[in-house]
Amino acid sequence: MALKYTRPRGTQDVLPQDSWKWQYIEDVIRGTARGYGYGEMRLPTFESTDLFARGVGDGTDIVAKEMYTFEDKGGRSITLRPEGTAGVARAVLENGLLASSPLPLKSYYIQSCFRYEKAQKGRLREFHQFGIECFGTHEPVSDVETMLVARDVFKKLGVNDSITLEINSIGCPKCRPAYNQKLREYFESQREELCPTCKQRLEKNPMRILDCKEEKCQKIAAGAPVMLDYLCEDCTTHFEEVKNLLAEADAAYVINPRIVRGLDYYTNTVFEFIAEGVGTQGTVCAGGRYNGLIEQFGGQPTPAVGYGMGLERLLMLMEEQGKLPEEKQGPLLYAVGQSEAGRKAARLLVAGLRNAGFPAEYDLANRSVKAQMKAAGRLNAAYTVVLGDDEVSSGKAVLKNMETREESEIVLAEGASGFFSTVYGPNAASVGIIGTSGGYIAAQAKGLSKAEKLETGGNNG
Ligand SMILES: [Zn+2]
Ligand SMILES: [Zn+2]
Repeated sequence: MALKYTRPRGTQDVLPQDSWKWQYIEDVIRGTARGYGYGEMRLPTFESTDLFARGVGDGTDIVAKEMYTFEDKGGRSITLRPEGTAGVARAVLENGLLASSPLPLKSYYIQSCFRYEKAQKGRLREFHQFGIECFGTHEPVSDVETMLVARDVFKKLGVNDSITLEINSIGCPKCRPAYNQKLREYFESQREELCPTCKQRLEKNPMRILDCKEEKCQKIAAGAPVMLDYLCEDCTTHFEEVKNLLAEADAAYVINPRIVRGLDYYTNTVFEFIAEGVGTQGTVCAGGRYNGLIEQFGGQPTPAVGYGMGLERLLMLMEEQGKLPEEKQGPLLYAVGQSEAGRKAARLLVAGLRNAGFPAEYDLANRSVKAQMKAAGRLNAAYTVVLGDDEVSSGKAVLKNMETREESEIVLAEGASGFFSTVYGPNAASVGIIGTSGGYIAAQAKGLSKAEKLETGGNNG
């Protein structure tokens, strides 16, 4: 069959057999961010183009080459967000959060971003980011807290050991000009060797040459003066404190003087989390302090720090290292209906499980018993029960553990609680497995696999 429509280059379909991986990562992220007191922001997918030109920087590759920009029917220039920070800063100002919320204002997002890049492994044109932004404090402890959130996410996902935190300080408007001057002098002496883009950068922003991906520029940059040697006293103290606090939290780091952010509103701490073996480039998370951004957007001078984490790369890393948990569990029960009355009984029993927060299924396609059993197997159901006229009239049915093939009897009139006491033991209700929505999660949290009985309160057969 010739497909009439295919997805645009650089995009992906996340299908039901894979979406659980995303949910798993997102659950860990949300739980971690919540634990640290960060509140979620859900912001528009597109903003006015100016916002990014200003907030991401005119001279950056992102703004110059990679944005999805179009004119809407009202003649406005609109851009699909290429990153998260500019939109968050805009929303913080527009909603007056700096005045109305307790400071520091701690927010996070999980969202898709869009960049027109060369499609390659680990590089999509629509990609997903988890990001954190913390506004209203210049204290090093806030820089470190954001890093610790990322660290914890990596730990919980099992990939921490293969990710290195690299940090640097790029100073402040007080100490950077002198450094830029030294840098300019250095690169000026080798001007002819630089790539055309870097020749332009030399005039406007020599720090960005340190960031150039061209090999010849990187070679020259390797010998360039480093910002750390030019920090003013305040910036030195700030950076020392960041290092102390990381050590206190037992978070390993290395100093990499080559990490820069070539935009004026970045100050002090910059950092990246670098993973081994993800696509062509190892950065899973990049961030830093941006004390000048809110002011640049017209607000009061407001210190801030944050980062973006690439979720595709994180997932790729977990897959490479086999760190994803076992595949998503199937339904706890597949109730097979053998007759009209049996199907009705199946729907009732399943409804009870679903009400208690446990996934359960019945047939939607009027299939034979044999085909329903096959479906139950394909779905990886933990238990099955076949309900026909005999079961309905006797009020009893045989529950089958699909893994052990063990069989036990359940009383249909007891509904879901009869099922639960058979599966989890008679104490299931008293320990809170049943009766709460999300019971399946509660059962898992108590370490009960789908076929494991509760062993609390003595002999429960
Ligand atoms: Zn400084
Ligand atoms: Zn270059």
